[in-house]
Amino acid sequence: MGIRATVWGENIHERSNAEVKKIYPDGMHTCIANGLSDDPEIETRTAVLQEFEHGLSKETLLHTDVLIWWGHCAHQEVSDEIVHRVQERVWEGMGLIVLHSGHYSKIFKKLMGTSCSLTWREAGEKERLWVVNPAHPIVKGIDRYFEVENSEMYGEPFIIPTPDEVIFISWFEGGEVFRSGVTYRRGAGNIFYFGSGHESYPIYYNESVKLVLKNAVKWAATGLRWIDNCPNIPVEKAPEKIVIKGHSVHKPGEAGFK
Ligand code: ZN
Repeated sequence: MGIRATVWGENIHERSNAEVKKIYPDGMHTCIANGLSDDPEIETRTAVLQEFEHGLSKETLLHTDVLIWWGHCAHQEVSDEIVHRVQERVWEGMGLIVLHSGHYSKIFKKLMGTSCSLTWREAGEKERLWVVNPAHPIVKGIDRYFEVENSEMYGEPFIIPTPDEVIFISWFEGGEVFRSGVTYRRGAGNIFYFGSGHESYPIYYNESVKLVLKNAVKWAATGLRWIDNCPNIPVEKAPEKIVIKGHSVHKPGEAGFK
């Protein structure tokens, strides 16, 4: 069995905007999934906002090793219940790759705990993505840098917690720079944010972008399921022999215990 990747798409611009539809006639999620499926180790499925539970049932998430998230104009339409469900799966060990405008998604902001704002400009300018962590598995096969001919500028300050690792720093034609590839660990889950990927440019057809996303899926997949249930350890199970002193206030099974 390969790595099971679910590509989630908001699926709005590609149906409502003629320009986006021309570039991504089957939806951005399909194009991103096709790029991953090039790799025999990755099995993909897609899910979109408009499906029941946004296509992210408990069953689907349980059988997802890595979730890829693309959203832009409808972050608020994603239900809080599903966001919480995704967060819990990340804690358990599901990988999460957040793309481009997903910096403002509910799930990314919730996992980061900051505003996740940035500066931006839509001028089709060149983006040069510099590899700043060349030994990292996410940039395997990528040279010192690669370029995206037409990109939306995303620039600093990017209001995120200090990343565990910075993988890419982008330079834009207009002069701004941006931490465009960063990683985090939340619970047992690996998270990768990748900035490039505006809907009106064919960025997900770019071979280097496809390679980065394939590498990122492999890096993010832990194959783990860690259940975080705050277990009570009775005295008889303590590694050293101890006797209870004083009164016990808490009992397993009461509020706060599982
Ligand atoms: Zn954009």
